[in-house]
Order: sequence, then C-alpha cells, then structure tokens
Amino acid sequence: MKSLIFCLTLAAFPAFGGSRVAPVRLYIHFQQQPPDAVLESIQEELATIMVPAGIDFEWRSLSATMGNEVSVELAVIHFKGACDATDLMPTDAYPGPLGWTHISDGQILPFSDINCDGIRLFTQRELLRVPEGLREVAYGRAVARVLAHELYHIFAKTRKHASWGVGKPAYSAQELLANKFLFEKKECDLLRAHQQQLASIAAAGQ
Ligand SMILES: [Zn+2]
Repeated sequence: MKSLIFCLTLAAFPAFGGSRVAPVRLYIHFQQQPPDAVLESIQEELATIMVPAGIDFEWRSLSATMGNEVSVELAVIHFKGACDATDLMPTDAYPGPLGWTHISDGQILPFSDINCDGIRLFTQRELLRVPEGLREVAYGRAVARVLAHELYHIFAKTRKHASWGVGKPAYSAQELLANKFLFEKKECDLLRAHQQQLASIAAAGQ
C-alpha cells in the first residue's frame, strides 16, 4: 500500500516432516484499544490469509513485553488511530496510505504501521451498506488485509507488488470488505520459500 517504507521475517516450518518451529510473533500496539469483535476479526482473517503461505502467528501486546523474550521471527505492528467502525459517513474519502512498512538503508525492517482511521474513511461508504451487526467484522477483515500486505513485504523481503490479490499495491473498498480476498499463489509460494529457508537455517543451528 505504500512504498515509502518497508519491513523482516518469519517463522519456520520445515519443508517436510520434522517438528514445527515456533510461530511468528506479532508485537502489537493499538493507539486506541479496538472492540473485541474487531480484534477477533483481524486475527481470524490474517490467519485465513496466511494459511496457504504456511505462516502461523502468535499475538503479543507490545506494552506487556518484558524485553527478555527470544523469538526467531517477529514483526512489530502499530495500529494508528481508532480501529472501529463508528461515525461512518456516506462520503468518499482519500485518506492516503492505509499501511506502510519501514526501510533503512534499503533493508526492509520488521516494523509496520496500520492506518485504522484511514481504512475506516476509505471503506465507510461501503461499510454503511453492511448490516450494522456485521460492520465490525467486515471492518476487521479490511484491517487484516492491509496488515497481511505489509507482512508480505516483511516476510517475503520484497518491495515488489503483485498484479492481483492481497499483494497488489492498491485496493478498492469493495476488495477490502469482500467475503474473500487472498494472496495469489505466486506470493504464497514466495512466503513459503522464505520460511523453508529459515527453517533450514534454524535446523542447521541446532
Ligand atoms: Zn506494498
């Protein structure tokens, strides 16, 4: 969604057989705590999107982290603004980038920001067409898709974008709110290949 900044890495499951390496840890910080329904929707949709890539996540609160945890693969995610589906207006908005990942000296770093207010503004006209009782789930799915996009930059270690699916450089509001919106096979294969590479390195170090 944004090429300005990018981001690091991942977990590892052996290419075949063997024991499973620890899941990727996501250290998260919400500027404003989201409703439970939104948070659950984000987590469920991200898990669904990443199943074909073989990546499993463990969510941790950044503020509760003791600083002495060891994790092979991780990413730090800051959710900016309010991650909720309230105060919707039937107007179009161009809120700018929906998410971005940091880079330094050309290296993608494992730090992403997700623009919760921007995602709400961008999708609000369409969200108003969603039955009220389902809006938080739909909004959470949209946030998860932006998050998955940024995690793709981190874990596939690439600034490139795909032509279709979650790896595209820009989405429509309809895509963000659709019942189903996934990575294409090529992006899943890339994510999986990097995982296998890491698994091999981890296995060699044991
Ligand atoms: Zn991107």
